[in-house]
Amino acid sequence: MMQHVRLEIRGLVQGVGFRPFVYREAKRYNLTGFVANTSFGAVIEIHGHDTELFINSLRENLPSGARIDSLDRVSINGGHNLEFEIRSSLEGDGNTVIPRDTALCAECERELRDPRNRRFGYPFINCSDCGPRYTIMQIPPYDRVRTSMKHFTMCDACEREYTDPNSRRYHAQPIACPECGPSLSFMDADGMIIKGDPIQEAVKMLVSGKIIALKGLGGFNLLCDATNYDAIQALRRLKHRPRKPFAVMFDSLQEIHKYTNISKYEEYLIDDAIKPIVIVHAKDSNNLSVNIAPGLDRIGVFLPYTPLHRLLLDAIDFPLIVTSANVSDEPMMIRSKELLGCFGNSLGGIINHNRVIVNALDDSVVQAVNDTTVMLRMGRGHTPYTVQTKKSVTKRILALGAHQKNAIAIASEKNLVLSGYIGDLETIQTQEYFERTIHTFERFYPDQRMVLIHDMHPHYYSTRYALETNYEHHELQHHYAHVLACMAEHSLSQKVLGFAFDGTGYGTNNTLWGSEVMIADVHSYERIGWLKPFALLGGDRAIKEPRRIALSLLFESHTLEEVLSLSSPAVDAFLPYEIRQLHYMWSQKLNAPMCSSMGRLFDAVASLGGFVQTLAYEAQAGLLIEKYVDKAMCEPFEFLTIGEEIDVRPMIAQIIALESSMSDKEEAKRIIASRFLATVEAIISSFAQRYPDLPIVVSGGVFQNRTLMEKLQMSLNHRDFYFQQKTPINDGSIALGQAWWGIYNL
Ligand SMILES: [Zn+2]
Ligand SMILES: [Zn+2]
Repeated sequence: MMQHVRLEIRGLVQGVGFRPFVYREAKRYNLTGFVANTSFGAVIEIHGHDTELFINSLRENLPSGARIDSLDRVSINGGHNLEFEIRSSLEGDGNTVIPRDTALCAECERELRDPRNRRFGYPFINCSDCGPRYTIMQIPPYDRVRTSMKHFTMCDACEREYTDPNSRRYHAQPIACPECGPSLSFMDADGMIIKGDPIQEAVKMLVSGKIIALKGLGGFNLLCDATNYDAIQALRRLKHRPRKPFAVMFDSLQEIHKYTNISKYEEYLIDDAIKPIVIVHAKDSNNLSVNIAPGLDRIGVFLPYTPLHRLLLDAIDFPLIVTSANVSDEPMMIRSKELLGCFGNSLGGIINHNRVIVNALDDSVVQAVNDTTVMLRMGRGHTPYTVQTKKSVTKRILALGAHQKNAIAIASEKNLVLSGYIGDLETIQTQEYFERTIHTFERFYPDQRMVLIHDMHPHYYSTRYALETNYEHHELQHHYAHVLACMAEHSLSQKVLGFAFDGTGYGTNNTLWGSEVMIADVHSYERIGWLKPFALLGGDRAIKEPRRIALSLLFESHTLEEVLSLSSPAVDAFLPYEIRQLHYMWSQKLNAPMCSSMGRLFDAVASLGGFVQTLAYEAQAGLLIEKYVDKAMCEPFEFLTIGEEIDVRPMIAQIIALESSMSDKEEAKRIIASRFLATVEAIISSFAQRYPDLPIVVSGGVFQNRTLMEKLQMSLNHRDFYFQQKTPINDGSIALGQAWWGIYNL
């Protein structure tokens, strides 16, 4: 029997070769009708006999980059198409899923290297399956006229591919070739264009140990030879980044194997369609510079993800440091003028091109935990991230996130969308990027009725931003938002046992929290456990100096004279008069705000164990502790639970005794690191046992610790155990949690 069906599809169906796929399937089942992009996804109309087979096949043979979140079917009264056709976009209801940028595909890579192909060596080759998407998009729906490719008129050959349903480039919006598309140039430090092959000019500079800039997919990168200590040192000076690790781009998986120990699963992560930065174990001896990740055994690795990277890596025989072009934590630069103004004289040159970056985007950073992924920074390829919500929203919700690792989220009708990594809202540049991202989202999801949700911290830039607008606004506790973020990713709305362990966030009692155990649902939470609070001696200074946290904990259980006579690396890190001053500060409560942060406890242990006394970058203490962990050693230290408070003073005493009694300090570090992580695990287990029926949710920066997550995955495998795999496990998804709460409560 002849059937007439209309399908409305939501999900990731734009910019992933979905329409050509639908076209081929429709032809296969002899259907007529059409497929078109809409602002919510795609719409398909089919007329014929085998509509059911077609619909099944849509789900089963979906292209790898595509994802169907919902498929609504409507019966219609006949139709009179003679053919099946692909139509240009239809306008829709503003619930767009924005297509994401994907890495150079294998087929395009083959063409790039084929001298007989007309795109041989062309750095902007792409197809329906790969290439830039979100980064070049101005407004939805995703069509060439609404991207920065609109400035390039297709040549006849490209036009033929673009309109031929059997071509790999059918409706590939950024389609281009050397005849009609963007072109590359090499500029010197003064912005003058250098004649010659830009790639070869860049290679000359890299080989001679210079730093060059390269216009990538989501912004400019700075590059140098990863085996050259001095070049990396110069890069560190340029970026004001003394010790924080850099990521390294390798030519191939085989090269990565030479330098690192990676699992099958990590191999899969490194080589997937996104090609994110993956944090892996570096081999002990390799000829990479020790300056890449000083003192650590981990390294961020990735593969070339644009044709431009591919051409560059093909022309050299060493791996490259590839890092965003910015100063410490500022946003990536997307204009060459800005770049020259900031770094000009220090650069060997710039590989530039004339395809405009519309939306800046950093690289995504992930790590494997057993055979699952933990998202550390959500950027290129994963942004914007869409969660389908079953509950429809009547007002548009804009969630402003936290302060560190800021990202924003928007909820409208049936979609909740989390932005990519924006950064720490400390500098004017990041604050501007934050506001630009809000404007982009407002352009993508236009709606007049708006409610804002922000963190409770009165000094956050995002909080001040909310208070200065005329919109209705609500505040939400930071750690509750962490738990909600994980619930959002997994579409949970029931009661859960949540653990939000992180640096510091503002609590409801004017103290800083960070080790919250809570029973929570989408409406409210009850705080049922936390670390016994301790003082941050010197406020923000304590966050950079683990020795101050250690001292504060020592003051909790020792007299001043006892502390002065203790044998501990934390005490040795101060002069006696400094300890007396800090003790005065502690006893008088001068600039010594109380906190219950698990992240700070990691710092204290790092100081008492002699790992580090002053931090060069945020996560350093956790990374150093992790380096020493021996997974076989799993006896926890002692701790007490009195009411809701978890008292770790017994553990502190054990650590001091261990450290001072052992002459082999490296062995002492191994024991302290291993038993400390076992203690954190034991704290979590003690609560988990009390609530055997509740699903467990963990979130917060502390869970970036891979060993801790591996342990939890093992010990909680008999429970419903949730952690974030697609959205950042740190403050990068506070906005997602805020919006999840908004959907259910506003
Ligand atoms: Zn391709
Ligand atoms: Zn062309």
